[in-house]
This record gives sequence, structure tokens and C-alpha cells, in this order.
Amino acid sequence: MQDKMTLDTDHEARTAHDTPLFSGLPGDIAVSFEFFPPKTARMEEALWDALQELMPLGPQFVSVTYGAGGSTRERTHATVARIIRETGIPAAAHLTCVDASKAETQAIAEQYWEAGVRHIVALRGDAGEPGAPFTPHPQGYANAAELVAGLKEVADFDISVAAYPETHPDADCPQADLDNLKRKIDAGASRAISQFFFSAETFFRFRDRASAAGITAPILPGILPVTNVAQARKFAGACGAEIPAWMDGLFDGLDERPAARQLVAATVAAELCRRLYAGGVREFHFYTLNRAELAYAICHLLGVRPKDASQ
Ligand SMILES: Cc1cc2nc3c(=O)[nH]c(=O)nc-3n(C[C@H](O)[C@H](O)[C@H](O)COP(=O)(O)OP(=O)(O)OC[C@H]3O[C@@H](n4cnc5c(N)ncnc54)[C@H](O)[C@@H]3O)c2cc1C
Repeated sequence: MQDKMTLDTDHEARTAHDTPLFSGLPGDIAVSFEFFPPKTARMEEALWDALQELMPLGPQFVSVTYGAGGSTRERTHATVARIIRETGIPAAAHLTCVDASKAETQAIAEQYWEAGVRHIVALRGDAGEPGAPFTPHPQGYANAAELVAGLKEVADFDISVAAYPETHPDADCPQADLDNLKRKIDAGASRAISQFFFSAETFFRFRDRASAAGITAPILPGILPVTNVAQARKFAGACGAEIPAWMDGLFDGLDERPAARQLVAATVAAELCRRLYAGGVREFHFYTLNRAELAYAICHLLGVRPKDASQ
């Protein structure tokens, strides 16, 4: 006997297949863009160019990641503060528990608040080599749920947390991972952003299970337009995401054809977004890798246009 969850998912899948390709999408979606802090003046320029390109699309927020062990602490802070100062876009700073005492983490959060930052993406982070077990700092937060509670003690931040449609590798089982997500929301987070994934079905099933577990906060799908499968596979293994085998085939023979790779990347990601849209998703988070074109093209296909028509 089919339960309600399966029926919902089937309905979403049918709707996704029946919807004409990108036609008439009204752009009734909210988008957000993720960047990493630049290392060099040239990279900073590239990031700034990407921001200028994407800004007219009126993102709900943009976010800036935080390197392992606080290695980008100053750069993340400087980038987020500059975005807020110069663009007025709500910018979120990622913050992890790695290698920092609670007092140090709280001091960083206070500096963010003073710089006008009101949104933090609160993460546990990873220690050492990919896949190595996480060892908390002796006086630090042991996991993201503790960090969320600690941040709320500092100030009334808007907090996002990570979610894993294909389950985080450290979790004992998918349900334990969902329980952890619920703890993070209950501790004060207002939304989750998902790890990247490549099957809309995977996301729908995860959303259904989250809803059944009592998670009502929005879960934004994290969209990674892949242009380099080998590189994506390197990330994916350690972070609870799978690169499907069909993707290797799609990029086969394109090593020397960067323009064709870009087109394929946009097509695959846009098709995933279209299916998510057909299944009711209205908020999308793009991993931009500090490049604007792919995210811009996908948003355009989804009907998003510059807020000021003259731009
Ligand atoms: C949207 C997004 C953005 C990210 N940005 C960054 C970034 O900027 N910098 C960076 O270094 N990393 C980043 N990461 C990666 C993230 O730090 C890693 O995935 C990390 O391994 C887990 O972080 P978390 O916040 O999900 O941890 P947690 O939510 O603390 O969970 C980690 C694992 O431990 C388990 N767990 C937690 N608490 C308990 C408990 N009490 N009992 C049993 N099990 C428990 C969870 O189920 C899960 O398996 C990001 C990930 C995502 C999805």
C-alpha cells in the first residue's frame, strides 16, 4: 500500500515531467548565492565582478564560506563586511566550530554583529583530512547545534544550518542525521541549506522525511552547477553527496572544450532546478564558486529577471 509520502512524491515527479521546458516560469522564486573568500587581489576582483553581475537579480541573501580551522577568518569577515557596506545585499557569514573555544567563537560573532552582519551560516566544520573524525576544541562547541545555541546567546542572528539529502557521512543512519537537523532548528536556526545533490527525487524524499520528523523550517536546495566532474567527485566523497555515473559520460570528451562544458553544466543544473520547481520548491541556493555566468543563466531560465528593468 502506498503511503501519503509516496503519493506526494509521485505527484511531484509527474508534475515535473509534464511541465513544458522552462516556458512561462514567472520567476516567483527567491535565490541566494554562495561565494568563497578570495585569496588574492585578482580573485577579489573576480568575486566583485560576479557579485555585480548577480546583484540585479535581487538575491534573498549571499553568503561567504569559512575556511577549515578559521584559516579565512579575516578574509571571510572582510568580504562580508564589504558586501554589506557597499551593496546593501543581506550577507551571511559562514562560521564553524573548528579549532576555536566558545569564547573565541562568540567574540567573532560579536564582531560580525558590530559590522552589521545579521545572518550566520552555522556549521560544525571538519578537522584535518577529509573523512577524519571531528575532535572538538576542548573549550569549544562540539557540533553545529551547540554553535547555533551559542550564537543566539550573543545576539538575535538569523541562522542557517546545513542539511544532507544523502545523509552526512558521520551520521549513524539517515534518521539520526534528521534528528540532528531538528536539534539545530530547535536551537534557533530558521532555515537549512542542503548539500549539493543531482536528483530531484532525492531532495523530495528528504523534504518529505524532514517534514515527517516535524521540521517545518524551509530547506533550500544547494545547487552546484558542475563543470568539472573529477573536481566535484573530490568534494563529494567527504561530504555526503554522490556524483552519479551518468555525469562522467556527459562530460566525456569535453576536457579541452571549456565552453561546451559550461553549456552542459548549465543544462544539467537548470533541468534539476526545473524539476525542483515543478515539485514546489521556490527557494534556491547556488554554489557559485565565485563565477556569475552559470548561476545567472539558470536563474534566467527559471524566470528571474533583473529587479530594475533598465539593468
Ligand atoms: C550549505 C553548506 C555550507 C557549508 N559551509 C562550510 C564552510 O563555510 N566551511 C566549512 O569548513 N565547512 C562548510 N560546510 C561543510 C560542513 O562543515 C561539513 O559538512 C561538516 O562535516 C558538518 O557540518 P554540520 O554543520 O553539518 O555538522 P553537524 O550538524 O554538527 O553534524 C555533523 C555530523 O555529526 C552528527 N551529529 C551532530 N551532533 C550529534 C550528536 N549530538 N549525536 C550524534 N551525532 C551527532 C550529525 O548527524 C552529522 O552526521 C558546509 C556544508 C553545507 C551543506
